[in-house]
Amino acid sequence: MAASEAFNALGLTPKMLESVTAAGYTQPTPVQAQAIPMALDGHDLLVSSQTGSGKTAAFMLPCLQRLMEAGPAKLPRVLVLTPTRELAQQVAKATMDFGGKRGPRVALLVGGAPYAVQLKMLRGPVDIVVGTPGRVMDHMGRGRLDLSKVQTLVLDEADRMLDMGFIEDMETIAARLPAQRQTLLFSATLDGVVGKLAERMTRDARRIEIAKTPEATPRIEQKLLFADDHSHKLRLLDHLLGDVALTQAVVFTGTKVGAEDLATRLGEQGHAVEALHGDMNQGARNRALKALRDGRVRILVATDVAARGLDVPGISHVVNFDLPMQAEDYVHRIGRTGRAGREGRAFTLAHHREFGKVKGIERYTGSAIPVAILPGLEPKARTAKPAAGNGRKPSGWKPGYGKAGYGKPSGRVHGHARPTR
Ligand code: AMP
Repeated sequence: MAASEAFNALGLTPKMLESVTAAGYTQPTPVQAQAIPMALDGHDLLVSSQTGSGKTAAFMLPCLQRLMEAGPAKLPRVLVLTPTRELAQQVAKATMDFGGKRGPRVALLVGGAPYAVQLKMLRGPVDIVVGTPGRVMDHMGRGRLDLSKVQTLVLDEADRMLDMGFIEDMETIAARLPAQRQTLLFSATLDGVVGKLAERMTRDARRIEIAKTPEATPRIEQKLLFADDHSHKLRLLDHLLGDVALTQAVVFTGTKVGAEDLATRLGEQGHAVEALHGDMNQGARNRALKALRDGRVRILVATDVAARGLDVPGISHVVNFDLPMQAEDYVHRIGRTGRAGREGRAFTLAHHREFGKVKGIERYTGSAIPVAILPGLEPKARTAKPAAGNGRKPSGWKPGYGKAGYGKPSGRVHGHARPTR
């Protein structure tokens, strides 16, 4: 089947179909199949979709098509807000790839990057702004960014922006946009506070709900390894990193210091390794990511700053050296592997006392993580609740409850201190 045939029915122009073919896409993903026609018709959308579902193309292809149809203009007509710099970079890159050589002028406005380049960009005509709320606010406040002609606002990973305390920034920015605009909101969940935000920001929105994990991540084999203590975790990690099937891995830690320490240790052992965390300046973060993309780095030790948006097909393994803060971050972390149709493996190391947190993740994903034991590296202590055997269901396990956090209602959000990512 020609690549564009399956996309044909969605209302995309031949030019956009060419971009789809060039990207190597043959079939629209479920979120693309549903969102593209509605977005082209100008509807507001509330979309619940998981990481890796193809949501970037779902909002960007219609935006690009509408821009092309409208012809050139000076001021930005599309604004995409994302929670992290990495995701913004990823979206900007995808936009330029889809747009082609004579495509849209994209301004990437993220924190941690020098102002000079961004200001220069904003002095010329810009079609699409992709940025994080803080830096977009900053440019608006300095009078350098005129958003009065924005026709489409995209809130990418809105739940995460709320988690990170961006609610006020998002509302302030939205208030500066024309009321007669299209709003496309993407989020892992549309419940709770996200739902309330969506009500305020959208009008007569169509709702699209895409099946959640584990269906969304069928190619990722997950395993849970219990550890007695930190040194046991290090031995388990050494074993996992010795796997010949491992091409590249992201190892997630809970803290920035933890990421630094572990990267140093692995570097001393001779691994090609880089750290990635929120204390590094943007230049260093970009260099680490580029080295990973180029294959010069085999292991990235990162905090949750890398949990979303990172799209490197060579990542065969994800290791959760520490458990994530939020159950939903587990889904984002493991979604760094199994990209571009490949298979992936995700190992989660947990202390016995963290069994409750593991249960929270399982409630969130709706499935148990099979427990594995590595010969010679068996845990000595017993877990608080018995957790032996693959595919066991911990007591009290019921699929489908608890949308976020470790079993708490999804009322995380306002006034939270920003996480130290
Ligand atoms: P996203 O959820 O937008 O981050 O996309 C996740 C990954 O899926 C990226 O590597 C995309 O290039 C890829 N992708 C998106 N749509 C398709 C498609 N229709 N066919 C194949 N790969 C896709």
